Amino acid sequence: MDRAAVARVGAVASASVCALVAGVVLAQYIFTLKRKTGRKTKIIEMMPEFQKSSVRMKNPTRVEEIICGLIKGGAAKLQIITDFDMTLSRFSYNGNRCPTCHNVIDNCRLISDECRQKLLQLKEKYYAIEIDPNLTVEEKYPYMVEWYSKSHSLLVEQAIPKARLREIVAESDIMLKEGYENFFDKLHKYNIPMFIFSAGIGDVLEEVIRQAGVYHPNVKVVSNFMDFDDSGVLKGFKGELIHVFNKHDGALKNTDYFNQLKDNSNIILLGDSQGDLRMADGVTNVEHILKIGYLNDRVDELLDKYLDSYDVVLVKEDSLEVANSVLQKIL
Ligand code: C5P
Ligand code: MG
Repeated sequence: MDRAAVARVGAVASASVCALVAGVVLAQYIFTLKRKTGRKTKIIEMMPEFQKSSVRMKNPTRVEEIICGLIKGGAAKLQIITDFDMTLSRFSYNGNRCPTCHNVIDNCRLISDECRQKLLQLKEKYYAIEIDPNLTVEEKYPYMVEWYSKSHSLLVEQAIPKARLREIVAESDIMLKEGYENFFDKLHKYNIPMFIFSAGIGDVLEEVIRQAGVYHPNVKVVSNFMDFDDSGVLKGFKGELIHVFNKHDGALKNTDYFNQLKDNSNIILLGDSQGDLRMADGVTNVEHILKIGYLNDRVDELLDKYLDSYDVVLVKEDSLEVANSVLQKIL
């Protein structure tokens, strides 16, 4: 081999070594990067409750960051803001739809068949609007007001006695979600403030959680409360109406409550509607907020919207285990 050939072989050999080294370095870099990216969701990856197919997240890294913030703040900084119907209560059980607070009354035996029929027709019309993926919240808003005023007037016509509410709830099919005992009892044990903010019927809601044995002193209920006349018969509803899409107004009216909780700057918010996302509007000092949203109906059409607005979306899920698993990490 002449000198030039030796030089050429040498050059090829050193180029190959360089390529090999570069390859190894690149592989190592990718490996480290992967490990680092993996590390970004270390906590939720280790939580079996987050591995179920019903759990969807647009940005798991962000969820991880929020959960880290919640863990760091601990019990002292935490508060819960939650919806009731179809969030704390079940959407379905054994394939059958469960009632909302309103439906508990609609379906009870004190309501005449004619009235029940009218309430059912209202529900068919307006519930379809409530969950319509093609309408904006602003477009739905007036229809919700219409639904509530019509259905509340019908209920008033039925002269429901306050004294019968306990039995009406006991005989109904309303159910709290699986894991509710753990959820309520743990929040009570650590004295975490829990704000139940419902566009349902407060009297029914309170009776449900009382009968379930979880109406602890850390729970505050804001909802539509029935107004009874002197003989204890339903005559209307107290205060301003809370419907599915005006929760931001109600939230701002409760600033006194939230001002007492100035140090509770970490929030877990639970809801099932786009309107529920505004339930924390009355909190001025939010540090970390984890928004968990139950998506129960018209899943395919609504999933993207829910993924854009809730940090964690729970699809057709009737348990509180994801919230409980997060509480387990914090408390
Ligand atoms: O607790 P939450 O805010 O979810 O309660 C509101 C729910 O009550 C709505 O999702 C709506 O479908 C339901 N509703 C009902 N009958 C009415 C009015 C509202 O079932 N007359
Ligand atoms: Mg709800």
